[in-house]
Amino acid sequence: MSRIEPIQIVTPPLAANAYLLLTETPAIVDVGGDSAFLLDAVRKYIEPKKIEYIFLTHSHFDHASAVSDWKSWFENVRVVLHREEYSLLKAQGFASTVFGIKFKPFEPDVMVDGGEVFDLGEVKLEIIHTPGHSPGSVCLYERERKWLFSGDTVFPHGSFGRVDLPGGSSYKLIESIKKLTQLDVHNLYPGHEDEVIGNANDHIKHSLEFAKMFL
Ligand SMILES: [Zn+2]
Repeated sequence: MSRIEPIQIVTPPLAANAYLLLTETPAIVDVGGDSAFLLDAVRKYIEPKKIEYIFLTHSHFDHASAVSDWKSWFENVRVVLHREEYSLLKAQGFASTVFGIKFKPFEPDVMVDGGEVFDLGEVKLEIIHTPGHSPGSVCLYERERKWLFSGDTVFPHGSFGRVDLPGGSSYKLIESIKKLTQLDVHNLYPGHEDEVIGNANDHIKHSLEFAKMFL
């Protein structure tokens, strides 16, 4: 029996969460910044070459920079990224201007705009475009199980993503969080901090209140 609940892997260097899905079509949501670390962590559960999809919630190096190595190691893996996020990466020459970190360039295999649904078997992930933290940030929603992978858009306890990095927008972040409050979310799997199991709607509502207050 394989476990369907996402397995949280806290990755170096900035403790971004990766989530491993041991579904019929195995997948990872975000990969962090240390490709070898992730390889060891994933190996405890599944042969890494069996991973078919890598979904990136956005392109910040602490969530995504391990992806180039993974693509070179495993040629079957398909990397899913929002179109506007790829444009941002290219415009910056795959260098994070804020952190001075150089990304190894990569090409996404599937470019999304929002609204697409990926069928992984027991789990179906819907792409929701949630700009604000970055222009092509996305959240992934599992409608039947009421799960939300929220990247750096919302965090537990009313927290939300910063908007002062390139392409960030406080107006758009508030609009995006509003969109998320219209979903029914039980479990929240954020890009940093702990998972929320049950009643995640309340956390997202608080994020909206606080974002309106402080942005
Ligand atoms: Zn980020």
